[in-house]
Amino acid sequence: MVRAAGVRKHFGSLQVLQGVDLEVQRGEVVCLIGASGSGKSTLLRCINHLEKVDGGRIWIDGDVVGYDLRGRTLHEKSHGDICRDRTQTGMVFQHFNLFGHMTVLENIMLAPRTVLKQKTSEVLPRALALLDQVGLADKAKSYPRQLSGGQQQRVAIARALCMEPKLMLFDEPTSALDPELVGDVLKVMRDLAASGMTMIVVTHEMGFAREVADRVVFMHGGQIIEQGTPAQVLGDPQHERTRAFLSAVR
Ligand code: ATP
Ligand code: MG
Repeated sequence: MVRAAGVRKHFGSLQVLQGVDLEVQRGEVVCLIGASGSGKSTLLRCINHLEKVDGGRIWIDGDVVGYDLRGRTLHEKSHGDICRDRTQTGMVFQHFNLFGHMTVLENIMLAPRTVLKQKTSEVLPRALALLDQVGLADKAKSYPRQLSGGQQQRVAIARALCMEPKLMLFDEPTSALDPELVGDVLKVMRDLAASGMTMIVVTHEMGFAREVADRVVFMHGGQIIEQGTPAQVLGDPQHERTRAFLSAVR
């Protein structure tokens, strides 16, 4: 489903991704862990084409999303193609970025209507079903400010899912939440994983990683330095850096 090969990215003189190779199979849940600044968000942003890579390539479902070193598209993709690619990937951020002047339902239906040009009659049943799936069926007409952070994040997840993505990327979806609100968001993500969604999740929730991830990937200094099952990476880390990181977050 996702293949990254030799992905490099720098900001000025700062090398942020230093040759990342990663493969994610369809239906797989990969948790990406690592210290602040190790390049986790940058990698997700490259996968979703929010950043251009400087080297290497990324494929989603066989389609190239990366650029070559000179900034030329590898397949001479048009802007329209790139936008279409991006709709195949849903992304959920730490800060939910809902539109405050729109109701929950309007937020969820916005992108399918404007980007996919779907009719309201087509989107509405799906949007309502998703609201139900995230446990917020009664909040359709509420505004974001009337919801808790955890509820807003669940709306953000429903909004991403309403685009019917093949792949979901989560960037620390619970780290801005009060501890008592984290569980409901993780439950939605756990259910989504169980439904077969392919997911890459940047998280500090080691309990979630242990329980839900098929694979845990540890990044350090812009590289993947260890990966394996949760039991392997979290339970019996081989690399000194992984051990140091895990003892710091526990
Ligand atoms: P955190 O756990 O704190 O979210 P991270 O692993 O997600 O960290 P990134 O956000 O990918 O790390 O950032 C990696 C490095 O790249 C950091 O040193 C960061 O300051 C730098 N960086 C990220 N985005 C930019 C940007 N747009 N311009 C310049 N530097 C950037
Ligand atoms: Mg980050």
